[in-house]
Parts: sequence; C-alpha cells; structure tokens
Amino acid sequence: MLYLVPTPIGNLEDITFRAIEVMKQVDLILAEDTRVTRKLLNHYKIETKTSPFHSANEHKVLKKVISWLQTGKTIALVSDAGTPGISDPGYLLVRECHDKGIKLTCLPGPTAFVPALVVSGMPSHRFLFEGFLPHKKGRMSRLTELAELECTFILYESPNRILRCLQELKEHCGASRHACLCRELSKLFEEVITGTVQDLLDWSEAQHKIRGEFVIVVAGNS
Ligand code: SAM
Repeated sequence: MLYLVPTPIGNLEDITFRAIEVMKQVDLILAEDTRVTRKLLNHYKIETKTSPFHSANEHKVLKKVISWLQTGKTIALVSDAGTPGISDPGYLLVRECHDKGIKLTCLPGPTAFVPALVVSGMPSHRFLFEGFLPHKKGRMSRLTELAELECTFILYESPNRILRCLQELKEHCGASRHACLCRELSKLFEEVITGTVQDLLDWSEAQHKIRGEFVIVVAGNS
C-alpha cells in the first residue's frame, strides 16, 4: 500500500493526526529531501526509515519502489512541503501503482494553493491551478493563454522570479487586473498583498530583497 502524505508548508502544527500515525506505521518513507523530512519526523518523534525520492532519481528508483510495494511493504511518499504530486514528484509513482494494481491513497492535508486562493478573495468556484510557469520555452504562450481565462488562476513562483513574473503579468493581463501575492503562508512573516497587478509590482519593487515563498492568485479576464 502506498500513502501520499501531505506535510506542513511552514507551520509544523499543520499536520493531521492521521498523517503522523501513517508515517509512524509504514515500513519506509520516501522523501524528496531526507534532511528536510527528518526535521519533521524528529519533531513528531517518528523513527521510520527514509529513502530519497525526488525529480532527479524518480525514474531510476521507480522499479525498486514498485517491487517493495509488490512484496507487501507499506510506503509513504512525502515532499519537502505540502502535498506530493502538486508541483512536486508523485505523479509517476501513482500512475505506476495504478498500472500494477497496487493499492494507494492520498491523505487530505496542506497545500499552498488552497489557502492562497481562499485568502485572496478572488472567485473560487472556478479556478485554474497552473503551478510553476515554464522558465523559458513556452512561457510567453502560456501567459497569453492564462490572460484570456475567465476564471481565477494560480501560479507558484520563486522569489528571484517574482518581479519578472509580475512584469509579464502586467504585459499580458494589464496593470489594472486584480491579483494577490501570498508570501510565507502559515509562517511567522505571512503576508497577503491584494490589489492590481501594478500595486503588487510597486510592492515588489519597493522591497530591498525579495525573500520567501510565493503564490500569485490572478483574477480572471472579466
Ligand atoms: N507540494 C507543494 C504544495 O502542495 O503546495 C508545492 C511544492 S512547490 C516545489 C513549492 C512552491 O509552493 C513554492 O515555490 C511556492 O510557490 C509554493 N509554496 C510552498 N509553501 C509556501 C508557503 N508557505 N507560502 C507561499 N507559497 C508556498
């Protein structure tokens, strides 16, 4: 049996009782970065063995993981933060488990885009989760597509590309499009900045150095 286990996106208290119990009970935890996961495991006094499973090795170790599952091992997959498979490795292993008839379940739990969408105040009845835009090839065409959407859309972006991303959003969606920048959700310095794309750009340009993790929520083209 494979368990996909969401872990906190900042605040270590944001974890379910069930997630802790599953991580205690399984034979092995597959972790994106075993050092990051070990901190969480130590906090909850979980002694289960970990093994690396990340985008650079997932193709290589897939067969081995499947054979462990087929011999009856129970395994949990976690990422550094949030839900595995959401802008993180997971999809390949899940697909392979379905193909091989291996039982799996995903526990409900933390992910960055849901609190960002809800706190943004943008319509949440219809939305598109884009995650990270391609860095180079295809980025402009994706932005053109997104700008036309009538529903809210959500982007993940790294701090060193926030400014560039907001400038591109201004070019594609216009300076007056409503948007929301969510920084460091659930952490001590959580910030939610709402306004137009231009307001967010002004905020970013006024920062000495942009640090932290960001979700950008953009209103649809109404
Ligand atoms: N699996 C994760 C999830 O379920 O949300 C996403 C992992 S992805 C590699 C990391 C990105 O998620 C960050 O670059 C940022 O865009 C977003 N993110 C993660 N934690 C965040 C937080 N505490 N506040 C804001 N954004 C966050």
